[in-house]
Amino acid sequence: MSQSPEIAILGGGIGGLAAAAFLRRAGLASTIYEQAAELTDVGAGLVVAPNAAWLLRRLGVLDAFTRRAVRLEVGWEFRRWQDGRILSAENLATSCERLYGEQTYTAHRADLLDVLRKAVPEDTVHLGRRCTGLLPREGRPALRFDDGEVVETDVVIGADGIHSVVRHALTESPAPAYSGLCAFRALVPAQDAPPPARRNAQTLWIGPDHHLVHYPVSAGELVNLVAFAPAGDYAVESWTATATVEELLAEFRGWDPRLLDLIRAAGTPGRWALLDRSPLRRWSHGPVTLLGDAAHPMFPFFTQGAAQAIEDAAVLARCLAADAADPATALRRYEALRIPRTTRLQEVSHGRSHLNHLPDGPAQQARDAAFADADPLLANGWIYGYDPDTAAALPR
Ligand SMILES: Cc1cc2nc3c(=O)[nH]c(=O)nc-3n(C[C@H](O)[C@H](O)[C@H](O)COP(=O)(O)OP(=O)(O)OC[C@H]3O[C@@H](n4cnc5c(N)ncnc54)[C@H](O)[C@@H]3O)c2cc1C
Repeated sequence: MSQSPEIAILGGGIGGLAAAAFLRRAGLASTIYEQAAELTDVGAGLVVAPNAAWLLRRLGVLDAFTRRAVRLEVGWEFRRWQDGRILSAENLATSCERLYGEQTYTAHRADLLDVLRKAVPEDTVHLGRRCTGLLPREGRPALRFDDGEVVETDVVIGADGIHSVVRHALTESPAPAYSGLCAFRALVPAQDAPPPARRNAQTLWIGPDHHLVHYPVSAGELVNLVAFAPAGDYAVESWTATATVEELLAEFRGWDPRLLDLIRAAGTPGRWALLDRSPLRRWSHGPVTLLGDAAHPMFPFFTQGAAQAIEDAAVLARCLAADAADPATALRRYEALRIPRTTRLQEVSHGRSHLNHLPDGPAQQARDAAFADADPLLANGWIYGYDPDTAAALPR
């Protein structure tokens, strides 16, 4: 193999694009194969925490990103479901940069995809290419596409999301488990949103069996809302599955009228069943590996799924650049550096699911008292203060 391996990235989502961008920065070319005919704006909003913002800065795209992203002034603003009473709130405007050197942003996924897309050469991304399988070959791995074409390469990075074809080929992970929860996602024009939702704040309304998060995106033109509710028999995990505003309203019957006004103004909500997957112990097999949701799908309660995909990308690029002539060794090192951290995040995200949904009573009162004393920005320093460059520079 030459010093610069041929690298195929399956999936042009946040993880795949970030991987191509970091590889390019490390002097390595790659090709992205994305099944969609265009990179669309499904999926609504994201919180981009300081650990992800730092990596966007490293890629040279943070300035472009902040033209449409919103800088949060308040985060972790917990409100009681019935009357909107504030249980706790974190001042991000001053503490975030002081603690972690970067701000926390909220953004439409399309705006994040757009800046990552511009960080890679146009001909890197091949659209309308759906991979149907990974072929076992002696030597070089090969990807088969739905048009019958087979592409041989030196390295395969499976950044193909929660239903990853590459993960399916590499691992025998058990079928995902029912979690009992689903997420509704919707966008509201800012002029139709009640005043509390128009601030540069990430607000979490918590109550029995449900919680709802909102924050502005798209330069403040839209308010993104994500609501968590019992799933019933719903089990579809898809960015494109939808529900109705009436279904979403029914879930929050009896909650603060301002919240109901926000829901009434929402466009068609997306609906996503949260299925539970245990952490994998291996991501790589020879020159094939996983990245992002394909490797470590996590519940969104720490808003870190995309951030972890971007971190994976940064570490992977460093490892491949350091061992370009021996990708299998590079990928073993990559997974050894990343699996402990993403496993911990999968576990804490999973553990958080019930805390926000306690019924009113002594446990809820104890939780609210604990929230009032908590400092999540500081307590989660292990998440926000991570530097993948330092992690990848650790001795072998
Ligand atoms: C309700 C909810 C809220 C969230 N909020 C946040 C948040 O605030 N902050 C945060 O950091 N994260 C958040 N996340 C998580 C975040 O959205 C994901 O972790 C992130 O999108 C993962 O990126 P990815 O590139 O790994 O996968 P994806 O975004 O799923 O991209 C995978 C890509 O691969 C393509 N693909 C799939 N199969 C094939 C194939 N066979 N052939 C070719 N292409 C293929 C897909 O079309 C897609 O473009 C949230 C998730 C949910 C469900």
